[in-house]
Amino acid sequence: MNAPLPLKVTRQVAGSAYDTVARGSNEVAGKLAARLAAQTRGEVLFSPADRGRYSTDASIYQVEPVGVFVPRGSEDVKLALDVCRDLKVPVIARGAGTSQCGQTVGAGLVIDYSKHLRQILHFDAASRTAEVEPGMVLDHLNLALKKLGLWYPVDVSTSAQATLGGMAGNNSCGSRSIAYGNMVHNVVGAQAWTSDGELHNFGRYDDSAGAVREIGRRIKELAGQLAPEIDERWPKQLRRVGGYNLDVFRPQSVRPYTQDGSVNLAHLLVGSEGTLALTRSLTLQLSELPQAKVLGVVNFPTFYKAMDSAQHIVKLGTDGALTAVELVDRTMIELSLQNPAFAPVIRSAVIGEPDAVLLVEFSGADKPALARKLQQLVELMGDLGLPGSVVQMIEDAPQKNLWEVRKAGLNIMMSLKGDGKPVSFIEDCAVPLEHLAEYTDALTQVFRKHGTRGTWYAHASVGTLHVRPILDMRTSGAPKMRAIAEEASALVRKYKGAYSGEHGDGLCRGEWIAWQFGPKIEQAFAEIKKLFDPIDLLCPHRIVDPPRMDDARLMRFPPSYKVIALQTALDWSAWDVQNDPATERISEPGTGADPAHGFAKAVEMCNNNGHCRKFDAGTMCPSYRATRDEKHLTRGRANTLRLALSGQLGESGIGSEEVRDALDLCVSCKGCKRDCPTGVDMARMKVEFLHHYKKKHGYTLKDRLVARLPDYARRASGMAWLLNLRNRSQMLARLGEKLLGFSARRSLPAWQSRHFFNDTPRTATREEALAAAKAVVLFVDTFNGFFESANARAALQVLQAAGYTVHLAAKLLPDGKHLCCGRTYLASGMVDEAKAKAREVIESLLPFADQGIAIVGLEPSCLLTLRDEMLAMGLGTPAQKVSQHAMLFEEFLSREAQAGRLDEFKRRLRPLDKRVLLHGHCHQKAFAAVTPILEVLKLIPGVQPELIESSCCGMAGSFGYEAGHYDVSMEMAELNLLPAVRKFPGAIVVADGTSCRHQIQDGAQREAVHAAVLLAAQL
Ligand SMILES: Cc1cc2nc3c(=O)[nH]c(=O)nc-3n(C[C@H](O)[C@H](O)[C@H](O)COP(=O)(O)OP(=O)(O)OC[C@H]3O[C@@H](n4cnc5c(N)ncnc54)[C@H](O)[C@@H]3O)c2cc1C
Ligand code: SF4
Ligand code: SF4
Repeated sequence: MNAPLPLKVTRQVAGSAYDTVARGSNEVAGKLAARLAAQTRGEVLFSPADRGRYSTDASIYQVEPVGVFVPRGSEDVKLALDVCRDLKVPVIARGAGTSQCGQTVGAGLVIDYSKHLRQILHFDAASRTAEVEPGMVLDHLNLALKKLGLWYPVDVSTSAQATLGGMAGNNSCGSRSIAYGNMVHNVVGAQAWTSDGELHNFGRYDDSAGAVREIGRRIKELAGQLAPEIDERWPKQLRRVGGYNLDVFRPQSVRPYTQDGSVNLAHLLVGSEGTLALTRSLTLQLSELPQAKVLGVVNFPTFYKAMDSAQHIVKLGTDGALTAVELVDRTMIELSLQNPAFAPVIRSAVIGEPDAVLLVEFSGADKPALARKLQQLVELMGDLGLPGSVVQMIEDAPQKNLWEVRKAGLNIMMSLKGDGKPVSFIEDCAVPLEHLAEYTDALTQVFRKHGTRGTWYAHASVGTLHVRPILDMRTSGAPKMRAIAEEASALVRKYKGAYSGEHGDGLCRGEWIAWQFGPKIEQAFAEIKKLFDPIDLLCPHRIVDPPRMDDARLMRFPPSYKVIALQTALDWSAWDVQNDPATERISEPGTGADPAHGFAKAVEMCNNNGHCRKFDAGTMCPSYRATRDEKHLTRGRANTLRLALSGQLGESGIGSEEVRDALDLCVSCKGCKRDCPTGVDMARMKVEFLHHYKKKHGYTLKDRLVARLPDYARRASGMAWLLNLRNRSQMLARLGEKLLGFSARRSLPAWQSRHFFNDTPRTATREEALAAAKAVVLFVDTFNGFFESANARAALQVLQAAGYTVHLAAKLLPDGKHLCCGRTYLASGMVDEAKAKAREVIESLLPFADQGIAIVGLEPSCLLTLRDEMLAMGLGTPAQKVSQHAMLFEEFLSREAQAGRLDEFKRRLRPLDKRVLLHGHCHQKAFAAVTPILEVLKLIPGVQPELIESSCCGMAGSFGYEAGHYDVSMEMAELNLLPAVRKFPGAIVVADGTSCRHQIQDGAQREAVHAAVLLAAQL
């Protein structure tokens, strides 16, 4: 049990929670918040913005909850359940909220299990089972199991974020379900609270007792009474997840629920979508991790032939070695070919121009045996009239690359701009394989009839092909959705399939349960619901008594959806477009009729798929990884912006405090720009937001000091000794924190009285450079120019040693200041000032760009501003031209080395016998500019640089220097970067970002160097 909270704290929290709710909500919500705050240790989130953030999942729906509760321990769930029962407030359980059918949205208390309830409670090696808390993410479990040679094999595409509780709720299915089955086949027990507050153990029926036994007995009786209906109406597919699993007592699926034919009552909870009980723990059956895999890529001349062949291919799997047959269609192949990174991978897998390919995977203990299975596949395809159609992949690396492409193809499809979006509502109907070709063909005709189209992909092995027709839910989307759903259902019936085959029922498919199972079974489902939850407290109106799928009141984008007019500071016109659903052609920029000139549409690109909740040590999303708060997640931010822009958070619109709070911990790392499947670029959105917010609320002294740094740097460096006193005196540091907000726990960058700009080495003039055979422009930024001028000198030395005529970028009309990218102004929301800086940059550097001369910079955030934000300022073709020639120091050297222009330089580099670690700056990662650094470091004989798998260092410009952000900044650094640096005390650490170097110094007391310094040292 929890220790009770100190009384004073309890009262305070309860009081403030009550106030928050009383202002924005009704009496019951106020009482609920107050009691949750007083009686539990959980987080009580009842503000309009919090409720807004939890009013959507990866579906098209939006329903505002009464409030959100984030339990810190499972006892909090029980307490919250008791309070809700008392106040008659429905409870909606939620994991990662990646459901596609609206399962996790509802007008009750949303309980978010994902933040704290994520432990493995028990592991049993003998039975190969693990008992886990429901908020645990699948990938995290599998990471822990890997060292034991085990895994949990329900490998959903959302494995990096989906929780096991959510997977059980939806009876989720992975790509390899043909071998391992669905969630229900891999759960052996559950502990759960029914709505009366009782905690029960659900397991084998034969071993059950008490209330659970009684529930089981009655359901057994029901199954007996309804035997003829069950036999007649129940889909026989492996992929049937609609309704409740009444057939545990009369199995219908081609795959039995249990190996020994016993009945397990935990299986009643699987797929029940939070409507029967709240899970406390799940006991999972684990599998042996396959030692080896091979992949056969079968190329088909027609889509129809691919679909028709699936039924024959699966017969190769009778020995259990066949683990996946996944479809990639022509559209996806083409989309992948457009991506420079994926094109070589897909080219290596296709023969000619196939209309579709099937990825056929065999797994097992022994590669040679699997290679023989591939041979059987080749023979089979020959028998089916397609000799020479199989590309065989025996090695692991090409297989892995191809699976990545398959995932990315879907992501590209989802990034369609405009109000028409691929909508998931018949995405997972399952039909018997012998009818797959006819079914997909007929449904494609249905789409055509309704003026739309869909791209097909995924699980051909089990007859569940994903397809999302493009619909505009703000206009004709809802009626079209119903019409297509009705025609699709007729096809599903014709081919004796399952309408809900993977993603559950939710709001979208609840009304199809009666259609699928008939009135008697529907009635039985209502009785099952009553047996577990007679007071209808848990997720009401799901599965039983569901709403209409096209009820506009439940939609995220109903026809009444409006955006508040906004004059944007940046150019968002690329998003202000519409698309033609039949061809996917996009209209001209600026024609989308967005009252916010494309900004709202850019924000609305977030479809809530939750990809930003992943925990890989990439770049996205560091503030979520540090806090695990929905509010501090890219999705939470996009939702907050969307609600604000559409007036759903009040009249303040974008300039509201709610948006400020949500964006506060965004470190503008641009991780989302790179990783988000739909290209949500929160860093750029934060600039737009800050512009409006600061215009409304004014700039602080700190804002001005940070923004104007480039302009006063020269004068300030003249007082270096005085200003640097702050780093030596705690009293001054504390005063600085009080007056300016810079953390006293930090040192500030040290000023140099002799810096690069007042002691500049000889460089070429503009004319000399423009006339030179091998010229380059060195763009020295404020940070490397005034604070770390050794870096700028080193870069100059390297470029000159490599034989280049180097011109130092400077203003065309000198005014005593250096040329600046405007980054500090952007970071403070001063877009007009940043534009003025960008104009100066273009004015000065365009002649070089026109002549194809590279503009090389050292500080990633500065140089990459020329490639990113400068293009969003409406500065036209000249900006594009300069941008095309702006390169990071290593990008330039890597390009030159590959062109054979650095051979002599390479010979001059002395060997280095030391371990070299590299920390990539977030913006380098976002612009795929990390590989060039590795390549350039390898020019030094003996150096084999190792990339630290890290996310943002946590410093992010001025972010980490700010007192209010110090703790979270250090937490971000401690996620990966600092432990990795500490692990190798003798290693050289390379980090190109000035903030990153500072963070490494502060957090690990190690001096990191710019790559230019390391190269220069070896000359
Ligand atoms: C891009 C994309 C790809 C997807 N790919 C797949 C796929 O390959 N296979 C697949 O099956 N699905 C897929 N899905 C759907 C979804 O990701 C899965 O259903 C996933 O398992 C849901 O996990 P979650 O943690 O997000 O659950 P949530 O969406 O949060 O919840 C799912 C259900 O479980 C209930 N629930 C959650 N926790 C509890 C609890 N503690 N007690 C009781 N009920 C609870 C909820 O009320 C809800 O009904 C995909 C979704 C997206 C957006
Ligand atoms: S921000 Fe991107 S990754 Fe995150 S939920 Fe939205 S679309 Fe998905
Ligand atoms: S810019 Fe970085 S911190 Fe901000 S939302 Fe994107 S990934 Fe998260």
